[in-house]
Amino acid sequence: MGRAFKIVILGGGVAAGYAALEFVKHGISYGELCIISEEAVAPYERPALSKGCLLPEDAATLPAFHTCVGIGVERQTPKWYKEHGIELALGTHIKAVDVKLKTLLSAAGETITYKTLIIATGARVLRLEEFGVSGADAKNICYLRDWNDCKKLVEVTEQCQGGMAVVIGGGYIGMECAAALVTNRMKVTMVFPEQHCMARLFTSEIAAFYEDYYKKRGVKFIKGTVMTAFESDAEKKVRAVILKDKKRIEADMVVVGVGIRPNVSLFEGQLALEKGGIKVNGKMQTSNPSVYAVGDVVAFPVKLYGDVRRLEHVDHARKSAAQAVNAIISPEEVQDYDYLPFFYSRAFTSSWQFYGDNVGKCVLFGSLKDQKFGAFWIDRGHVVGAFLEGGNKDEYASLATLARLQPPVKDIEMLAKQGLAFPFFH
Ligand code: FAD
Ligand code: NDP
Repeated sequence: MGRAFKIVILGGGVAAGYAALEFVKHGISYGELCIISEEAVAPYERPALSKGCLLPEDAATLPAFHTCVGIGVERQTPKWYKEHGIELALGTHIKAVDVKLKTLLSAAGETITYKTLIIATGARVLRLEEFGVSGADAKNICYLRDWNDCKKLVEVTEQCQGGMAVVIGGGYIGMECAAALVTNRMKVTMVFPEQHCMARLFTSEIAAFYEDYYKKRGVKFIKGTVMTAFESDAEKKVRAVILKDKKRIEADMVVVGVGIRPNVSLFEGQLALEKGGIKVNGKMQTSNPSVYAVGDVVAFPVKLYGDVRRLEHVDHARKSAAQAVNAIISPEEVQDYDYLPFFYSRAFTSSWQFYGDNVGKCVLFGSLKDQKFGAFWIDRGHVVGAFLEGGNKDEYASLATLARLQPPVKDIEMLAKQGLAFPFFH
């Protein structure tokens, strides 16, 4: 038994939702497109899981944030897919793919064939078991990648109102979840191996601002170390986190955000891989011309920097999806993907955006005290990256322009004094 489609999108996350929208914009015939997802719900805006969904009151819940509400367009509920003749195969785990035969095999034993495949399998969370931490299977340890994880996190938080939460990891999940837990009146301790939070993007000065900001809201930081074990009770609930130096931190719940790995295993030995992701060209086409890949799972050429990168952020998921669809529909007309890296985050009342590349010398401007500051990264005399906390729409648009155009800067002192008012183009 099997079904056949002209186009199959494997994965039902952000990139899949935006790819479906792009196909609909161009016009597809009924029954041509199928989206296969192991999740039980239609594609949604994943960023909501660590933000709106964790609010103590009026929390966001599905179906409110199905794609593509993130860019202010249609909310694609299952009904939307039906109306556009798109087959949405939810709760369907694909366990094998043969790119030569152009077939996918589901866990239930169904074979699905395609003419063109778009891989949008995203990534999986790294689990503490993979670091050899014992007792990591306890009931009150939460990870956060999908809607089920989010529901569990909300439930566990509700069960230990006013209690102690330990957050493992000082990256995006750690910072956003720590803030959400505080908002839910939990006492939060963060533990991570680096000397400061968000180590891959922030300099120590920028991180110091956010750490102080969190400390003022009650968050404790334990930095430069890792946890080695959990202490659990008879009900298999964690009661304490044990650090490398044997220090014991009491915990009613634990949230873990120690990074992700792209879901590439189905394609190992079949498609070219690079930097842990599926290698694509500027058309999002893999080493097999009938297979495209988008979102977190791809290693793609960044034209602006002349290298290959993997980016784990929603803007790239959305834009790479649109790029693949356009390349499939009009291969002759589409230009190579020319992506400007863009990251953002929000926690408590803070909100920042970053565009470009964080290499070279970092120059801070503005006032950390007034929560209105930013930074430029200057590499070989040119602005290559720009960061701003508390900016408005126009200011963020200027950051993007600067990071894209990379104007030269001679007077770095003046730049630090003037910030965005600096005459970049004269
Ligand atoms: P995903 O959205 O992860 O979708 C992958 C899909 O593939 C999933 O539905 C998965 O179940 C499915 N799948 C995988 N393997 C199989 C299989 N074998 N069979 C069937 N289905 C399969 N980025 C930002 O820029 N800003 C943010 O504020 C932000 N917040 C985030 C908050 C959270 C909690 C998380 C987890 C991520 C956040 N991100 C954010 C990152 C952003 O969500 C991702 O970059 C984006 O979701 C990537 O889209 P994707 O479609 O490539 O992968
Ligand atoms: P990140 O890669 O952002 O951060 C993981 C952090 O955990 C790193 O600081 C990492 O350190 C640290 N770490 C690694 N191993 C350990 C360990 N054993 N103990 C403690 N800390 C450890 O991943 P997240 O898990 O925070 O986020 C998962 C994904 O979700 C990412 O793709 C992220 O981009 C995305 N996301 C994005 C958001 C946004 O853009 N606003 C919001 C939420 C999620 P090291 O660097 O040394 O490895």
